Amino acid sequence: MQCQAEDYLRPRTLGEASEFLSLHPGEARPFLGGTDVLVRMRDGILTPRFLVDVKGLDGTNELRFDPKTGLTLGAAVSMNQVIAAAEVRTHYPLLAEACRSVASYPLRTRATVVGNLCNASPAGDTIGACLVLDGVLHVHGVQGPRQVRLESFFLGPGKTRLEAGDVVTAIHLPLPPKGCAGVYLKLGRNQLSDLSIVGVTALVHPDSSCPSGYRFRLALASVAPVPLVPVEAERHLASHPITPELLHEAAQLAADACSPIDDVRGSARYRRLMVRNLSATALTQVWSQLTG
Ligand SMILES: Cc1cc2nc3c(=O)[nH]c(=O)nc-3n(C[C@H](O)[C@H](O)[C@H](O)COP(=O)(O)OP(=O)(O)OC[C@H]3O[C@@H](n4cnc5c(N)ncnc54)[C@H](O)[C@@H]3O)c2cc1C
Repeated sequence: MQCQAEDYLRPRTLGEASEFLSLHPGEARPFLGGTDVLVRMRDGILTPRFLVDVKGLDGTNELRFDPKTGLTLGAAVSMNQVIAAAEVRTHYPLLAEACRSVASYPLRTRATVVGNLCNASPAGDTIGACLVLDGVLHVHGVQGPRQVRLESFFLGPGKTRLEAGDVVTAIHLPLPPKGCAGVYLKLGRNQLSDLSIVGVTALVHPDSSCPSGYRFRLALASVAPVPLVPVEAERHLASHPITPELLHEAAQLAADACSPIDDVRGSARYRRLMVRNLSATALTQVWSQLTG
């Protein structure tokens, strides 16, 4: 079993963490719950010299809801803490639902939403909720703090806009649109501890600036090199009166936007078909939730 780093470090400040990480690019790795990092080290995929524990740094343990600005979720807040938070269950039930779909209770005690985002797997279950809720990452780098919109964060499997020295300290989710309805549908090989074959996140809310009167948001997991927002499907739903047929047309557009691969969890063809079916179901569900 390969699972060794020369050193485990616990910086006292974000400045220290960023400086150390920037001085050892490729050798030093930040981590939170470690449920990705330690497993990849065990499997010999990652071989960092230094493991930099960023839990406990400024703001990383905070879960704060402001009724004017929204939710700030510190990087070290575990998924179980997110699920248990009354503010999340009341205002961001979609995020709680996405967290609940991840593996098992014991894993979620360690795993974090920010770790899920930084891992940048196209299969990350919480990414869709953070995308459709317009998440913004708070990042501390060698030049100090900055913000990065999640929609521009993912560059490829495991690749993000983060640079050497960057530590994500939190994700901020603005207040959800008034009267929105959301759902996350995950198709896996079993109910426990499996990554998705396909995941579909859908959100809808009234929006008078759209010709249809409603804005739908969609995000797809495990069907492209990055978590995918099928913009043509969203545009179609914004532009025409909402009917059951339109929801199915949009689901087909979502499937057309995918570039899935064959792997042990499912073939590309099966994934594309499932995107169409699950998107149709998700869009129909949120639409009936909204219109009662
Ligand atoms: C048995 C098992 C089942 C799983 N099932 C699922 C599942 O169903 N769905 C799913 O989506 N995932 C699943 N995963 C993957 C994993 O649990 C999640 O991706 C989890 O959210 C990662 O969070 P973490 O805090 O453990 O991240 P870590 O392992 O600590 O880090 C993940 C990545 O982010 C980087 N990173 C961590 N913190 C920071 C930071 N502050 N700033 C910058 N970069 C950082 C690390 O260097 C690493 O590359 C599973 C893993 C296991 C072992």
